[in-house]
Amino acid sequence: MVAQAAQDPPRVIGIIFGPPGSGKGTQAARIEKDFHLKHLSTGDILRAEVVKGTPTGREAGRIMAAGDLVPDELIVDIVRSRLPEAETGAGVLLDGFPRTLRQAQALDAMLAGEGHNVDFVLALDVPEQDLVDRLLHRAAVEGRADDTREAITERMHEYHKLTEAVLDHYRRQGVPVEIVSGLGSPDEVFERIRRVIGISSG
Ligand code: ADP
Repeated sequence: MVAQAAQDPPRVIGIIFGPPGSGKGTQAARIEKDFHLKHLSTGDILRAEVVKGTPTGREAGRIMAAGDLVPDELIVDIVRSRLPEAETGAGVLLDGFPRTLRQAQALDAMLAGEGHNVDFVLALDVPEQDLVDRLLHRAAVEGRADDTREAITERMHEYHKLTEAVLDHYRRQGVPVEIVSGLGSPDEVFERIRRVIGISSG
């Protein structure tokens, strides 16, 4: 881990990635509980803004409904305003951010201001066919007609394209990037995560 100034409590900044249907939400909640990392999900924050009907929520709601990404500036402002408060505990687990290279660069700049960097990146990996099956099953159970095989496959490809660029960004910086299989029971997946986080966050 990066050396800390004496007066600073040691904090861990982790990022979790996982395509829709990978079980990321379940694992993020367990990481929060077991490692005391505050779970900061930009999707959750945006959905709460939409419900509250704030100006941010009104702008983001339209974009999210269309399945697009909200502008980098908007999401970076949100993270910048939430990070200091979230960082007061053992650390933070970022979920859904950074999604683009520009967001990753903005996060680097925020952390560099405190002499810090990202400590680990976790990416849940589930073969595309398993993901499509899980999501089609979920769509059928929830009675949604819009989650078609084509739409799901398109979201997967978009996810992989964006995520790979961000993962490469961190690999180039020497940040540990751990690819963890998301197959099996939630307990099995969490055990794999526990092992790699134990090493990465020292
Ligand atoms: P998923 O269901 O794919 O895990 P999230 O819950 O993380 O998605 O986010 C839901 C939506 O919120 C995204 O489709 C996007 O419109 C918006 N969003 C969330 N995080 C970001 C981000 N970092 N950059 C841009 N848009 C975002």
